Amino acid sequence: MKKCMIIGCGGVASVAIHKCCQNSEVFEGIMIASRTKSKCDALKEKLQPTTKTVIETAQVDADNVDELIALIESYKPDVVLNLALPYQDLTIMDACLATKTHYVDTANYEPLDTAKFEYKWQWAYREKFEKAGITALLGSGFDPGVTGVFSAYAMKHHFDEINYIDILDCNGGDHGYPFATNFNPEINIREVSAKGSYMEDGKWVETEPMEIKRVYNFKGVGEKDMYLLHHEELESLALNIKGIKRIRFFMTFGQSYLTHLKCLENVGMTSIEPIMFEGKEIVPLQFLKAVLPDPATLGPRTVGKTNIGCIFRGKKDGKDKTYYLYNICDHQECYREVGSQAISYTTGVPAMIGAMMIMTGQWNKAGVYNIEEFDPDPFMEALNKWGLPWEEDFEPVLVD
Ligand code: NDP
Repeated sequence: MKKCMIIGCGGVASVAIHKCCQNSEVFEGIMIASRTKSKCDALKEKLQPTTKTVIETAQVDADNVDELIALIESYKPDVVLNLALPYQDLTIMDACLATKTHYVDTANYEPLDTAKFEYKWQWAYREKFEKAGITALLGSGFDPGVTGVFSAYAMKHHFDEINYIDILDCNGGDHGYPFATNFNPEINIREVSAKGSYMEDGKWVETEPMEIKRVYNFKGVGEKDMYLLHHEELESLALNIKGIKRIRFFMTFGQSYLTHLKCLENVGMTSIEPIMFEGKEIVPLQFLKAVLPDPATLGPRTVGKTNIGCIFRGKKDGKDKTYYLYNICDHQECYREVGSQAISYTTGVPAMIGAMMIMTGQWNKAGVYNIEEFDPDPFMEALNKWGLPWEEDFEPVLVD
């Protein structure tokens, strides 16, 4: 029996679990293991009557390697799909190594006390995974994830060299709250309040947060303000895609979101430095997370679409070429299908597909790899089949 253990049972995991249950030919068994077991049990109760996939649940503290090892040894999954938080990446990788089990995640490791995400910690496991004969697939969400698959696909089918990549992440959804985040608020705010950066001519250029703004007219959404951010796939794509001269990442934000964020920053609420409050140490950002709407509850109230993709410019047969690959996803359609909004959906579907690539042996090489290092074709086909169809444009408007 082919089995997958999913760690975490939040917004993204819920979508991935729905999708595994739709795909019971590959996912014959799944175990949902998370900190709060009642969430896993509730999802099992909802989904078990609808699927052939045999669902089991367990409580686990993914910060504890021994607990993870014991659980993996008892369930014996073919792959562990890590949909907890980036803080748990290394402990879960350690447990996978100890049990010789494949590993997939959607976000790179971040230490709890420094809001700095980079691949160095996980890339340091390359040799160990190679020797153990197992695969770690890093970043199998949308961005990172599909953006890397799009890049590998563009490289394989459309270019001899890609010189410029602009990744554009547009969320045209409206949840009706003055301020809420679409995925884990702590991780989201750490990401958007960090300095921006992009790579040009082999050098990283750092910007102030939200310093670089552009306006872009997104198909399916319309005109939106977008801002340059640092984003984790820039680091791996800059190395893995041939001929890169510049790579940037832009994300759209509405004025209300930015005004609230600035105010929260100004009063110290986004800080990750612990403070004493009524005799107890608290981290302001973690407290803020506790009072903000839970992203998992945004589904029923979010309307509108997302449009995420990459604009490539480079050379094919000696001629300049431009190519835009993107996906448009509708918040309400996602909600009707799996009870979640599109941000969780666009991450959870590729997470299921990444695990499927490993379980079916379509992606099969020992070591630690970013997603663009695999053959993109079966993944691209699966995106169309499992709910994230892609579109292409050979004459897109460019970002200056
Ligand atoms: P949520 O906060 O909704 O869910 C996280 C889940 O992990 C919760 O069920 C939580 O348990 C569980 N968890 C946290 N700590 C532990 C622990 N120590 N042991 C066991 N379980 C734990 O987050 P999201 O679903 O929004 O995000 C999940 C991941 O997806 C994150 O890493 C995020 O960065 C990534 N992501 C990636 C994207 C991409 O495109 N690549 C886009 C969006 C998100 P509990 O229920 O008890 O809180």
